[in-house]
Amino acid sequence: MRKVFSAFSQSFYFNSQEYYISPSVGISMYPMDGKDAEMLIKNADEALFRVKERGKAHYQFYRTDMNSVFTNVVTLETHLRKAIEQDELSLFYQPQIDVATGKAKSFEALLRWDDTEFGEISPSVFIPLAEDTGLIISIGYWVIETACRQISAWNDMGFNDIRVAINISPKQFQHPNLVPFIQSMIEKYQIRASSLGIEITEGAMHDMKETIPILKKVKELGISISVDDFGTGYSSLSYLKQFPIDVLKIDQSFIRDILKEEKDAAITSAIIHLGKSLGLEVVAEGVENKQQVEFLANANCHKIQGYYFSKPISSSELEKQFLVKNTAWGKPRY
Ligand code: C2E
Ligand code: MG
Ligand code: MG
Repeated sequence: MRKVFSAFSQSFYFNSQEYYISPSVGISMYPMDGKDAEMLIKNADEALFRVKERGKAHYQFYRTDMNSVFTNVVTLETHLRKAIEQDELSLFYQPQIDVATGKAKSFEALLRWDDTEFGEISPSVFIPLAEDTGLIISIGYWVIETACRQISAWNDMGFNDIRVAINISPKQFQHPNLVPFIQSMIEKYQIRASSLGIEITEGAMHDMKETIPILKKVKELGISISVDDFGTGYSSLSYLKQFPIDVLKIDQSFIRDILKEEKDAAITSAIIHLGKSLGLEVVAEGVENKQQVEFLANANCHKIQGYYFSKPISSSELEKQFLVKNTAWGKPRY
C-alpha cells in the first residue's frame, strides 16, 4: 500500500497541465470479507466510503462492524434513489433572528429524509453519499424547487419580506445548469429573486476562475450569497474581495466554546468586525444558550441561528411560531 501511495505522491503532466492525484483505497479480502466478487466489491466500497468520510487520500481495510444500516452505502444509495421518487424528502426551516429587532425574516432550508424502513437519516450521513454518487444533482434540484414553491406559498399568505437560503453542495455548484435552473424556478413560482439565498462552503469556491463567473450570474439574478461554515475551509481571504458575497456564517465550531475559549471568542469577534468592515451581514450558527446570544449581541453580530431560538422545523410549524408572530413582536425576545 505504501508503494501505491508513494507512486501517487508525484505529479504528472497531461495536456501540458500538471496534476496531482490522491488515491483513496478500500480493501476487502477473500474469504473473510466475502465469498464472491459481488460481496467483496460491496465491502471494499463500504471501506472506501469510510476513507472518504474521513477526508480521503488514505486506505482502510473492511471491518464487519462497518456494515450497519447507516454505513451500508449500497443500501443507502438504493434507498436514497427511492426517497426522491417516493416523496420521503422534506425541507425544514431554521429561523435567523435579527439581533436589532428580535424578528426572524430569514430562514435556512435544511433537508430532512424520513425513510420508511430506517426512520430519520441525518443529512450529514446522506449528503456526502449523494455527492459521491452524483445523486446530489437531482436532490439539489428538488431542494431548489421545493424552496421556491414554499416562498410562493408564504407570499400568498402575505409574507413578502422573507428570505429562504438553500444549501448548495460543491458538486451542484459546479454544475452548468445550476443558474438556469434557479432562474426557471423563480419564474415558474413568480417569486422575487431577493427572497432566495444560497449557502456555499469555502471548499466549493477554491477555484477562483471557475467560481467568479458562477457567483456573478447568481448575483445578477438578485439572489443573496452566504459563505457557510466561514473560517473552516480556506486559508486565503482574498476571495472576499473578489467574490460578490453578501453574508458570512460563522461556523458552529467557533461559537460552541465562545465562553470558555478565549481564542474562539477572539476569532468570532474578528469575523464580525471583518464582515462589518466589508459591508457584509454576519450570521452566527449553532447558538444554543443565552450567554452565547449575549456575547454575540455585544459583539454586534447581525443575526443568530441556533437551537436557543429554534431547531429546524416544518413549514407549518414555522408559520405558527415565527411568521404570524413576527408582526406582533415588538422587541427582541432574548
Ligand atoms: P449547515 O448548512 O452548516 O447547517 C447547519 C447545521 O447545524 C444543521 O444540521 C442544523 O440543524 C444544525 N444546527 C442548527 N442550530 C444548531 C445548534 O444550535 N446546535 C447544533 N449542535 N446544531 C445546530 P443538519 O440539518 O443536520 O445539516 C447538516 C449539514 O448537511 C448542513 O450543514 C449542510 O451542509 C448539509 N445540508 C443540509 N441540508 C442540505 C441541502 O438541502 N442541500 C445540501 N447540499 N446540503 C444540505
Ligand atoms: Mg448551511
Ligand atoms: Mg454551517
